Amino acid sequence: MAEHPAPTGQASQEAGGGPDGWTQADLAAMRLALRQAELARGLGEVPVGAVVVDAQGEVIGLGSNRTIADSDPSSHAEIVALRQAAARLGNYRLPGASLYVTLEPCPMCVGAALHARLARVVYGAADPKTGACGSVIRLHEHRQLNHQTRVSGGLLARECGDILRDFFRERRRKPG
Ligand SMILES: [Zn+2]
Repeated sequence: MAEHPAPTGQASQEAGGGPDGWTQADLAAMRLALRQAELARGLGEVPVGAVVVDAQGEVIGLGSNRTIADSDPSSHAEIVALRQAAARLGNYRLPGASLYVTLEPCPMCVGAALHARLARVVYGAADPKTGACGSVIRLHEHRQLNHQTRVSGGLLARECGDILRDFFRERRRKPG
């Protein structure tokens, strides 16, 4: 299987993804998510960004991590973006929609993606600490949960990881 190198070693090579399988629309959506991550960084939040795109390719939700600003442990970028998309459509289910997020989603966010019946989740960097798409657990593939949501990882993984690494490096440097 050497023709499919997986930089993260996890869910990178599933349907719809992979180093050669990304579309221009995938790249554009992840770049938009990266811009959301930059916004989070500017506010002193852990820089993670997310975008929800509908089946027609229209952006229907944007989110950046806001756990500190909201004093809310559930204010992850994915949840913020999903809330915006669902409110916009007036429907908690978003069939056909895709979520792009700069960091591998945690169990809570994978759960939300499954509840929303998303067609697809695409993430950038792997998260060895709480990633629920292969790094720690493979929640999206659990047999008793729905199988409607495809997950692929590794899109712009370096850019998505760099912004996090820079953030934590800077934070360690600052006393207090
Ligand atoms: Zn999360």
